[in-house]
Amino acid sequence: MSTVEPLHVETLLKVFQLVATLLALVTLGGAWQLRGERGMWLWSGAFAASALTQLARPLLVAFGAPPALLSIGHVGGVVAALFVLLGLRAYLGQPARWRWPLACAVLLALASFTATAATGQLAMSLVLTQAGTALLLIAPAAHAAWRAWRARGGFAMGLMMSDLIASVVADLGRSLSVSPWLVVDRAQATQNNAYWLLIAITLMIVQAFALVLLIHDHALRQIRRLIEVDVLTGLLNRRGFDERIRRLLQRGAAHAPVLALLDVDHFKRINDNFGHAVGDAVLSGIGERLRETLRPVDLAVRLGGEEFAVVWPQAEADAEQRLGERLRDAIASRPFQTAAGPLNVTASVGVARARGAGEPPETLFSRADVALYRAKHEGRDRVELAA
Ligand code: GH3
Ligand code: MG
Ligand code: MG
Repeated sequence: MSTVEPLHVETLLKVFQLVATLLALVTLGGAWQLRGERGMWLWSGAFAASALTQLARPLLVAFGAPPALLSIGHVGGVVAALFVLLGLRAYLGQPARWRWPLACAVLLALASFTATAATGQLAMSLVLTQAGTALLLIAPAAHAAWRAWRARGGFAMGLMMSDLIASVVADLGRSLSVSPWLVVDRAQATQNNAYWLLIAITLMIVQAFALVLLIHDHALRQIRRLIEVDVLTGLLNRRGFDERIRRLLQRGAAHAPVLALLDVDHFKRINDNFGHAVGDAVLSGIGERLRETLRPVDLAVRLGGEEFAVVWPQAEADAEQRLGERLRDAIASRPFQTAAGPLNVTASVGVARARGAGEPPETLFSRADVALYRAKHEGRDRVELAA
């Protein structure tokens, strides 16, 4: 029978340093790709803090530094947790609050140096920094991760969140397993530390994996935005709309969706009288008014030129006229502020309700278009319903 070799802490620390260095480089590459994202820079800073402090440790040993300074690697863990917390806040678009987490990190570092110097035991610093990070820094990080997950969801954020929670548990576990008050046998404490270190390295790799997935998600969202959103109005463009309306119409619902087509009246005159830039400002203003008027579940689209469409996925029965009027009123009720002064603008609206589940978008559009044509013919600035 063969016996299992005990894990060697010093070897594991070298692995830790190597993994952290590689991850710092990988995430730095990701942060470079997403230049505008501060969260990514801070996250790669977390790996760099772990790697650098692990690198500093053998150097300090080589130069015969006192044991207190050898706790630098533990302090690196605290600093890394600080970076993760700030990275998460930046990812959420919240201001980075350096002050109190930084103060906590400095206090933990001082406490760890002092305790090691006073007792001559590195385990003291390990207990303080691990328990300290878990209680002070990673808990708000887990909270921020939860908020980020609620805000954006997705597998990557879920993985990141689970990893952070697991890190809190691992930090607490590590601090308990090497605590001089709980573990009297020092060889046992060293072995415990080795196992927890292995878990910490694994969690670190998972964190980097989640981060790479987040970068990937972010890039995909940006690309989607570029191809599906109209630059001038910030509304969906035709490409973004087509797929959504098709899906909506296939889905059977208690109330079939309602479509409104909206065309600005005599828009050519605005361009002719005041110039194209003023025309653009009116179009952008219409985008804003539609957003103000609609709920997030409703779809608003710039189909092209001065033509827009709105879909209410769950409109009550007989709401067509009222919904159309709401759109017409959003445009006509008050003037648009432009470089040429306030301009009164009106629009004509044609409204059609889908015929149960499964009406092709083409026929729904053509019915609404006939109604819009009628609205134009009957004097503009009005709403007409499709047959
Ligand atoms: P009607 O009441 O019959 O709809 O008249 P209209 O002038 O609104 O209709 P028409 O289709 O003749 O004119 C639409 C104009 O919209 C013509 C085109 O130059 C202008 N247009 C299309 N896209 C843009 C744009 O992106 N910016 C600006 N400023 N004008 C645009
Ligand atoms: Mg038109
Ligand atoms: Mg028009």
